[in-house]
Amino acid sequence: MSITGRLARGLAALDRDGLRRTRRILDGPQGAKISSGGATLLNFSSNDYLGLANDARLREAAHRAIDEMGVGAGASALVSGHSRLHEQAEQRFARFAGVPRALLFASGYAANLGILATLGDRDAEIFSDELNHACLIDGARLSRAVVTRYPHRDLEALDKALEVSTAATRIVATDAVFSMDGDIAPVVELLALCERHDAWLVLDDAHGIGVVGDGGHGTLERFGIRSPRVVYMATLGKALGGYGAFVGAEPEVIEWLTQRARTYIYTTALPPMAAAVAMRAMDLVDSDRSLVANLQARIAQFRGECERRGIRAGASETAIHPIVVGAPETAVAASGELARRGLLVPAIRPPSVPAGTSRLRVSLTASHTEDDVAQLAAGLAQCVPR
Ligand SMILES: *Cc1c(COP(=O)(O)O)cnc(C)c1O
Repeated sequence: MSITGRLARGLAALDRDGLRRTRRILDGPQGAKISSGGATLLNFSSNDYLGLANDARLREAAHRAIDEMGVGAGASALVSGHSRLHEQAEQRFARFAGVPRALLFASGYAANLGILATLGDRDAEIFSDELNHACLIDGARLSRAVVTRYPHRDLEALDKALEVSTAATRIVATDAVFSMDGDIAPVVELLALCERHDAWLVLDDAHGIGVVGDGGHGTLERFGIRSPRVVYMATLGKALGGYGAFVGAEPEVIEWLTQRARTYIYTTALPPMAAAVAMRAMDLVDSDRSLVANLQARIAQFRGECERRGIRAGASETAIHPIVVGAPETAVAASGELARRGLLVPAIRPPSVPAGTSRLRVSLTASHTEDDVAQLAAGLAQCVPR
């Protein structure tokens, strides 16, 4: 067989199982409406929950930073890539999230790998919710720790697993808002378990920052939590509209990550522009209360519409609303039907979700109008099999 033969067979298998993924080419910025291939689609597929990815105020912050600092950081943070803007952004985030100190990583993926591979040494055991995001799973794999998966949000099972653990270091890792279901981890109870069993609690708030909590400051705000056990990770590429990620924790944790996290040390620092955009985005969440309020209004509207029309969407209070249909082909067919009506609602299939739970994943944003959400609900009522 030729050197590519095995891959060709693998690709053919993906086609056969309805699992081949393709990329849609966008011709303009992210937003409630996107243009692609000459068509305009109402977009319910992005993580741009506050509609900030193309916000004029963030574009201006980016332009200013580029004019002042250039486009590239030029080096890793520990060599010479750490600018005043990066430093200020870390301090701003610590205040925003209510954490003692923060460290700016190149992405959420890199941050989670860094946290788990650094804290999870040979003497550690990592306890991971079975529906955790891929980068927590990969971080656990990259660590030297024993990895124990527990059933989704199952506190009793986690308690038992922690009870019998003999590891010197215990680490509970969980999505704070689960990325494919939109449900929120029982963070208060998880923290209580971590206190009882002397464990770290690693919280991935990629989908909570900018969305949950009265001020949109994320899951820690939502539950009023401050604890030296919490290692908090929030991304900048979703509700905050830009790119990058912060880890917030006790000063010793942040210093240890700075010294030891390979995904922090051996990678180029973010363009300073990304730090400026992050700061401006946090300022906007605080100063323009209509952002979080609009998103919350659309979420409430969508839940009401689903109830009224008998659409079986999960009861989510976040921006993410799954409609589980089962087979990948069913999800793809429904998504295609919606696209023909000008509605972009992605089909999510294994391996992103467990087999048998393929779904449509609706994500709502602050830039959707009431009419957009009404159109979505009408489309779903017609296109989703029940
Ligand atoms: C998107 C996402 C990440 C990765 O963040 P990036 O900054 O895009 O690398 C991590 N965790 C969860 C739960 C996510 O949804």
